[in-house]
Amino acid sequence: METQIEQFLKELALSTQQLQPILAQLKADSNLAAFLGHKSYDATKLTALACSTLKVILGDNVVDTPPVSQSTVGENWSQACWQTPTCIILAKSPVDVSKTLKIIKFFCTKFAVRSGGHSPNPGWSSISGPGVLIDLQRLNEVTVSTDKKVVSLGPGGRWGDVYQTLDPYGVSVIGGRIPHVGVAGVILGGGFFHFSGEYGLAADNVKNFEIVTAAGAILNANKDENSDLFWALKGGGANYGIVTRFDLYTIPVHDIWYQVGIYATEQVPAILDAFAEWQNTGASDLKSTVALIVGLESTTLGLLYSAPADAPKAFAPFYNIPATVVAVPPTNGTVLSLTQILGSTFSNEPLRHDYRGISSKIDAKLYKDVYAFWREKALAVHAATGANQTFTLQPVTANMAKVGAAKGGNPTGIPSINHQWWTTLVDWNNASDDNTVRSVSIATTEKWREYGQSRGLDLRYIFMNDASRDQNPLQSYGSDNVARLKQIAKKYDPAQTFQNDQNAGFLLSRS
Ligand SMILES: Cc1cc2nc3c(=O)[nH]c(=O)nc-3n(C[C@H](O)[C@H](O)[C@H](O)COP(=O)(O)OP(=O)(O)OC[C@H]3O[C@@H](n4cnc5c(N)ncnc54)[C@H](O)[C@@H]3O)c2cc1C
Repeated sequence: METQIEQFLKELALSTQQLQPILAQLKADSNLAAFLGHKSYDATKLTALACSTLKVILGDNVVDTPPVSQSTVGENWSQACWQTPTCIILAKSPVDVSKTLKIIKFFCTKFAVRSGGHSPNPGWSSISGPGVLIDLQRLNEVTVSTDKKVVSLGPGGRWGDVYQTLDPYGVSVIGGRIPHVGVAGVILGGGFFHFSGEYGLAADNVKNFEIVTAAGAILNANKDENSDLFWALKGGGANYGIVTRFDLYTIPVHDIWYQVGIYATEQVPAILDAFAEWQNTGASDLKSTVALIVGLESTTLGLLYSAPADAPKAFAPFYNIPATVVAVPPTNGTVLSLTQILGSTFSNEPLRHDYRGISSKIDAKLYKDVYAFWREKALAVHAATGANQTFTLQPVTANMAKVGAAKGGNPTGIPSINHQWWTTLVDWNNASDDNTVRSVSIATTEKWREYGQSRGLDLRYIFMNDASRDQNPLQSYGSDNVARLKQIAKKYDPAQTFQNDQNAGFLLSRS
């Protein structure tokens, strides 16, 4: 009779040369036999065995075993995520990913999945041993279809490379706004771009997801095939398997207008007034959008228009507030040049990072009251720890939810009114300051809730791509959507491997 081990190896379709040594090694392990008979097995030893099996099957150039490369560990953007796994799988193909998941499932090994590594939430795309890190940086293709209507993206690509490749084709995509952020995390969390108000979320513009399920099946999810999974992946995060390719519809946007100014702290209340006024008036011109980053010493305001223009009228509320420094004068540029400009404003030096999100209806007084609250706290913590704190108000249009629905719908439950998503970005040095630094954004999101609820301006939606480790964005999608997401997760992952063995994340089992 075939043993469980033989059955498992048969599924991996190994060559005789690969099969014999691994079969002999696994059969000789009496602890494994006991484990397969439901006895416990020390997780460190079992994970080491899983890693050595992975190495025989996938090869030395795919599996980095102990001591794993610390420079690969350090590729997570936030130092708080620099965790050393037992081994790192640098997958080169969906088949590598499929074999990895089959092996992980057989050994019940803890794992994490990393694409761009830009989640600052410790353990989301990082893991300490015993555990396996599945790294997708080698799956970074950017391939444009001959009719330029669709671009296929590997999960481990970076948005800067995507816009660079698309530029000569005269088209663009709804993706991430900062060049070094990864493709997969952005799209699976929904994906907000400058022109989402006009074209929807990145996820709304996906034609097809190629995904490897926990059982190792390589599936397509689109409007005709596995359409329930297609819906779930448009914002459902890391709950369904590992996405190995995104086919994204391009948008006919290449030449755009923008200007960027730097403003003094005393001007922030006037800018927040103008922002709310523009949201209520100018934002009806869906080509117009605003990028606002409020800092402790200065504030950056970008006015962006998704077509060539000359001082668009939509931005009238801002034109009478003079910038202290004109960082970028009114320019007819491209999506690529804008991405490069924005990229140069973000530092990639190794630091600890966090972000945190919340949403509200439009109200200038609410914006200014929360700003005053945040500023006092952020200044005190800056003085104590040196932490750099900034926040942004992201303008969301009613049209964004409408476009999402017209493109087949998504599970996010984003309110179909003009509103805003607030998020912080915080950088600091010392682990001992983690709680002190994070307390500012925690207290500020609580303040948004308190003021929002008492003034009838609260919205429950929390954008997954801005959510911190202790927040629950999936719950904010609404109970019907969460129930449907859970049902779909059980269908495609009956053993619930992605809920039980995945290290951490915004998981349905915790929502
Ligand atoms: C400076 C900065 C700018 C940002 N700008 C934007 C923006 O413009 N728009 C926006 O929407 N968001 C933005 N974000 C947020 C960003 O979308 C999230 O941080 C996202 O998680 C990063 O994607 P990644 O692939 O780099 O992440 P990773 O850290 O690699 O992964 C994030 C999560 O996705 C899971 N995951 C990764 N790859 C896969 C896969 N292939 N299959 C299944 N699960 C996977 C991971 O396990 C993890 O839970 C920004 C973040 C930063 C720090």
